[in-house]
Amino acid sequence: MATATQAVRLEDNVTRYVSKTRQMLINGKWVDAASGKTFPTYNPATGEVLAQIAEGDREDINRAVAAARAAFDSGPWSKITPSERGRLIWKLADLVEKHGEEFAQLESLDNGKPLTIARVADVPLTADIFRYMAGWATKIEGNTIPISAHGAKFLAYTLREPVGVVGQIVPWNFPLLMAAWKLAPALATGCCVVLKPAEQTPLTALLLGELIQEAGIPDGVVNIVPGYGETAGAALAAHPGVDKIAFTGSTEVGKLIVQAATGNLKKVSLELGGKSPNVVFQDADIEATIPGAAMAIFFNHGQCCCAGSRLYVEDKQFDKVVEGVSQLASKIRVGPGLEPTTDMGPLVSQEQLNRVCGYLESGYSEGAKATVGGKRHGDRGYFVEPTVLVNTNEKMKVVREEIFGPVVTAIPFKDVDDLVAKANNSEYGLAAGVWTNDIKKAHRIASQLRAGTVWINCYNVFDAALPFGGYKQSGWGREMGHEVLEMYTEVKSVCTPIA
Ligand code: NAP
Ligand code: MG
Repeated sequence: MATATQAVRLEDNVTRYVSKTRQMLINGKWVDAASGKTFPTYNPATGEVLAQIAEGDREDINRAVAAARAAFDSGPWSKITPSERGRLIWKLADLVEKHGEEFAQLESLDNGKPLTIARVADVPLTADIFRYMAGWATKIEGNTIPISAHGAKFLAYTLREPVGVVGQIVPWNFPLLMAAWKLAPALATGCCVVLKPAEQTPLTALLLGELIQEAGIPDGVVNIVPGYGETAGAALAAHPGVDKIAFTGSTEVGKLIVQAATGNLKKVSLELGGKSPNVVFQDADIEATIPGAAMAIFFNHGQCCCAGSRLYVEDKQFDKVVEGVSQLASKIRVGPGLEPTTDMGPLVSQEQLNRVCGYLESGYSEGAKATVGGKRHGDRGYFVEPTVLVNTNEKMKVVREEIFGPVVTAIPFKDVDDLVAKANNSEYGLAAGVWTNDIKKAHRIASQLRAGTVWINCYNVFDAALPFGGYKQSGWGREMGHEVLEMYTEVKSVCTPIA
């Protein structure tokens, strides 16, 4: 297996990025951690250290929150016009595109994903969400409200105001994009931010911080503090000077965030795990469905909160679909993300490798069988073979729990009632897929599935205008679309007698 750096000529900015210790961004300055400590981020294709990062902790979070508070309460951000906010966010989108290749390379190095995927998904979707939210900056409106109080005529109206200082904690599966999904609505609504990237993948958020400065967004509006979840993340979630916390990650940590937020009852939005059913009816266009079902689970190595990880196939087509998905899985070229021939890179970390392999072992011990893949790939880096498991049922851990790797469980179903019961039999409710040529059935099933997104005859379609988020333990609130603006604003009612 070639090393990652042999594959592609790295951009100068990328070489610069990984060659020296990266600092954190507080109040417009790049600074070391107050403790002076650093932590390593690894290249998951080799397991080698990629760069050292300033390790933020409680004291750095305190400094960052103070900077955000000052920028919000009395700094330039409190006086800026909506149109100027929109212009700055749009400029940031342009800069993301200008530095797109650097972002794609850094993401591939730090997270492991194929460079090709970072180029066509992570980077353009990041620019899109900034542009979409730039447009909203001038359109955040209240209403005039007719009220019926006796004795006087009233003028009553609502204002939509920024919620204030927002703490944002993001995961490692789409590091740049998850940061952008959170930063863009915060900036559009006029909030100030302290962002904590995941310890495994801090690099692209830090590069974004440089561009936020270049775009002219004032000091203190966005502060970026890398560090560990248990220290920096927990301090941010509990901080009394933070008005809202927005989190994407595991359901387990989501519950900790809720507990930490109780001190000052800060607002909370959560985008959590999933175990999404992907449903194939026998009347589906099977030739289109098979690659769709494979992409639903194997995209981004299965490290997607909405991965189609439970494949339900109507029994008459079960063998054909499982064989087709297994065949496609066997052709996926696994290798370092920077190799041009790579379709699937390594998992993000040793911890995730152990976790996914642990799930495979648990599946086998409960009677599951792999029709393809089924184990670690190679002995260097954190690669796992794309895997299809059969002989599975709803009682097994591999069917109930989020694996977050390239592993799909395939289960046959008899009829619609059987399917809906099985598909909804999950503590999660993030997404679902339905493959059928029966248009009425498709929409009927879409209404019966308890999930925040239902894709019909497609999967993993994202758009800045389309809300995304979960039912049940998959989260609170929605990201993207105009729905997210509610998560970043407070409504103020104003009322006065005029006659
Ligand atoms: P995680 O712990 O939930 O990490 C997500 C973010 O939360 C990271 O920035 C993490 O920081 C931070 N964090 C961790 N503990 C925290 C705490 N006590 N207070 C505040 N912030 C905290 O996820 P993970 O451990 O990286 O992955 C474990 C599993 O979570 C995966 O296997 C997958 O099932 C799920 N997951 C889901 C998503 C999703 O998009 N829904 C994304 C990632 C992972 P550090 O990384 O610095 O510790
Ligand atoms: Mg973690």
